[in-house]
Formats: sequence, C-alpha cells, structure tokens
Amino acid sequence: MNEQNSPTLTGDELQAALRTLISKGLTFASCTVAFQAKGRVEEAYVEAARDKQRDGELEIDSSAVVSLSDDQGAYVMAWVWVADSDVWKGDVDSDGEPCLFENHYQCDDCGQEWTMNWSCACDDECSSCGKSYCADESVELDITGAPVGETP
Ligand SMILES: [Zn+2]
Repeated sequence: MNEQNSPTLTGDELQAALRTLISKGLTFASCTVAFQAKGRVEEAYVEAARDKQRDGELEIDSSAVVSLSDDQGAYVMAWVWVADSDVWKGDVDSDGEPCLFENHYQCDDCGQEWTMNWSCACDDECSSCGKSYCADESVELDITGAPVGETP
C-alpha cells in the first residue's frame, strides 16, 4: 500500500469516521475485538487478569484489550460493576431501593398538596384527613436525581 494515498487521519477526522461507522452499526464490542489482546504475551496478561475476576463485581472479557507497560506489568481492560445504590445520593424506600419517582398528590377533601419520593408511582395518604390517593403526577428521576430525559 502506498502511504501517500492513505495519510494518517487527524483526531477530528478519526472521530468523524467513527461517528459514521457507529451510524452504520459499529459497536464497542466490535472495537474491542479489533483491538483485543493478540499474541502469546498479551494473551498471558489477559489470562492472569481473568484469575483476579470476582463474579458480578470485576469481570474481564476473553477479548480484553491490553496496554503493555514499561513498569513490569500491563493494564487489562475490565468491567467494574456499579450498583444504582452506589450512585444514588437521595432517599431510599423501606427495601433500600432508590426513590426514583417524585410523586405529586392533592387531597380532594381538604385541598392539601404534597410530594413524596418513592421507588415507584404509588398511592399515599393525606396527612390531614387520612384519605388515600393515587399520584396526580409522577416524575421519574434518573440515577443522578434529575428528571429522566432532562439534559444537564
Ligand atoms: Zn386531606
């Protein structure tokens, strides 16, 4: 191949090319396969890393990408599990589940309005008269506490 006919792309050109490929179906998985450990040395690092796996917490694909280091080792790409409860800073329900629904109510009898956050859109009782109500409106929150779909 003649290098003059295939010059190295700039960072911006590579990003544009990737966006085009993504729109045509390129996935991260297909990228990791393209860059996965190749050869005896890189594959040995992947095998050693897979011995350090903890089911459901730290997982390493057999097609992991390896970054060899000059410092007597290598970094091996891994998946670290992060539970919603590790991210969520708001209230939790009686089962410890994040309260991802901001439920709004209004009492027909006494007119009281209130908001209650819970892990689902649920009924609540008026604190004044005890009558039970379905939520008039339930705003679903994402794991950061912002309404779903709201852009930062
Ligand atoms: Zn009431």
